Amino acid sequence: MVYIVGAGPGAEDLITVRGLRLLQQADLVIYAGSLVNPDLLKETRKGCRIVNSASMTLEEVMEEIRHGEEAGFTTVRLHTGDPCLYGAIREQMDQMDSMEIPYEICPGVSSFCGAAAALEMEYTLPGISQSVVITRMEGRTKVPERESIRQFAAHKATMAIFLSAGMLKELEGELLAGGYTSNTPAAIVYKATWPEERILRCRLGELYETGSRERIRKTALIIVGDAVDQKGYQRSKLYHPQFETGFRKKQESREMAQKAD
Ligand code: SAH
Repeated sequence: MVYIVGAGPGAEDLITVRGLRLLQQADLVIYAGSLVNPDLLKETRKGCRIVNSASMTLEEVMEEIRHGEEAGFTTVRLHTGDPCLYGAIREQMDQMDSMEIPYEICPGVSSFCGAAAALEMEYTLPGISQSVVITRMEGRTKVPERESIRQFAAHKATMAIFLSAGMLKELEGELLAGGYTSNTPAAIVYKATWPEERILRCRLGELYETGSRERIRKTALIIVGDAVDQKGYQRSKLYHPQFETGFRKKQESREMAQKAD
């Protein structure tokens, strides 16, 4: 059995309880060494085989999984953040399907959630933005033209941009070309939730300058949009005394009910 487990954004106690239990039971752990916190591997039991996939091809990973399966192992394939984002898990699942190897996914805390926590930020502020665009600059992996940064920027929603810290100049240009102003608030969050986490707040027009001054080239998320300032929003309807929900009556109805008691 193979468990595809999200390791969380970095801090070793940000893996889920389920993920941790699977890690503690595993006979074989194949971890994405470039981003998974190696301290998590201390949780594995004695004798567990540990393999770093950073230098391996898909074929080599599958070979490990196949051997593990033949030996009757419980295998954990440990991916950074949540495996559903830029995790290259589909191709692994397809191979396991064709080899008739059973698997299950255990979700994790994505780095864009870790970054929001680091920034003490609500991405979806009423009156500012109600959407988060999770995307990336095109690299070796192509991005469909209709999903270009420029096109998304036109929405002026909150954007969480992955895999692009090494292209800040181009990224800044694309975001500006799409319609954000150079005064739009932005943040670079480097290694969110790791001990070496760094938060660099700036304006969009200073994004490249800030990143190059601070020598940020990888393992960072870029968060852009008016929500980054966390100001000028409207208070929520959910907790507003003038609104009812399925769980709570309006303030006046509550007062009237109290009087009637
Ligand atoms: N599945 C992962 C993303 C993998 S792609 C997730 O859910 O987070 C790798 C990219 O994720 C990096 O280039 C960087 O942009 C981002 N990333 C991963 N961990 C990060 C962290 N702790 N802080 C900031 N960005 C991170």
